[in-house]
Amino acid sequence: MSAFLELRNVRKEFHSSSSKRPIVAVEDISIVLEKGQTLGIVGESGSGKSTLGRLMLRLIEPTSGSIEFNSIDILNEKPVQLRKLRSQMQMIFQDPMSSLNPRMSVRSLIGEPLDIHKVGSPSDRKAAVAEIARKVGIELSALDKYPHEFSGGQRQRISIARAVINHPSLIVADEPVSALDVSIQSQILNLLMDLRNEMHLTFVFISHDLSVVRHIADRVAVMYLGNIVESAPTEALFNNPQHPYTKALISAIPQVKSHLTTSERTERIILRGDIPNPASAPSGCHFHPRCPVALPTCSELVPLLRNYSEHHEVSCHLVDVASAK
Ligand code: SF4
Repeated sequence: MSAFLELRNVRKEFHSSSSKRPIVAVEDISIVLEKGQTLGIVGESGSGKSTLGRLMLRLIEPTSGSIEFNSIDILNEKPVQLRKLRSQMQMIFQDPMSSLNPRMSVRSLIGEPLDIHKVGSPSDRKAAVAEIARKVGIELSALDKYPHEFSGGQRQRISIARAVINHPSLIVADEPVSALDVSIQSQILNLLMDLRNEMHLTFVFISHDLSVVRHIADRVAVMYLGNIVESAPTEALFNNPQHPYTKALISAIPQVKSHLTTSERTERIILRGDIPNPASAPSGCHFHPRCPVALPTCSELVPLLRNYSEHHEVSCHLVDVASAK
């Protein structure tokens, strides 16, 4: 299968007046996503996963690297072409309130993408809004209300309706359920999975919550301080994690541990400290100050992301040593 979304050596630096050194939010990331695949991106806050999601849709410009969507080099697209492409590439954000204009009715909010791209006649657009509202679970009688009159879960349904009304092929969802109650989270997750299956969407699902990602993703990439440190098919990653950071994240999820047999069950690995400031990333392996099994060489040599097995990549000197034996 050919690549549907392909990032090559993408880097994103932010510059601030208070620091001479750039903040490297994404250091050097390459990803190939096939059509119809769901990629989960996980990591702590500050790992660069949200920046990566925005780069995928060129909502922000990378400092270097290349991004192709459906074989189109989106970094070289002119604004007019990029606007057309945007209807095929949509983002769902964590906080729907920040992306919904409080002065617009829900009917106008859901229909706005159709208006922008001048899709169909006014009556076609009205019918499309009613159809997508029904699909995402918004009552037709509520379409003339305003965002503040809805609960958080309902507002996320409105955001999802806006994202899918133009029949996109790629959705990047950045922590779409993190701000919701647990009972509502599963409803929204199920809605996203139903839409993905029904509309044949290619999906990037960004979350700090591995159990949520396990539920939805075919493949998972674990990010730490601007890099992918491990990437594998979902079950391979959860059943056979190789990177010490991935192991620590998985060990912190009780639901995941309950899936393991007694012999597979591991003690929770407590990591020292917090993720460092990306403006002053540690030398060598960026994870070495927190790594419970760091080698002396880890503070000097940068580990490369290498194949551990087919479709399973890891960047860790220990894993390099193990696979070289
Ligand atoms: Fe730990 Fe070293 Fe592997 Fe980094 S390279 S994860 S510090 S063992």
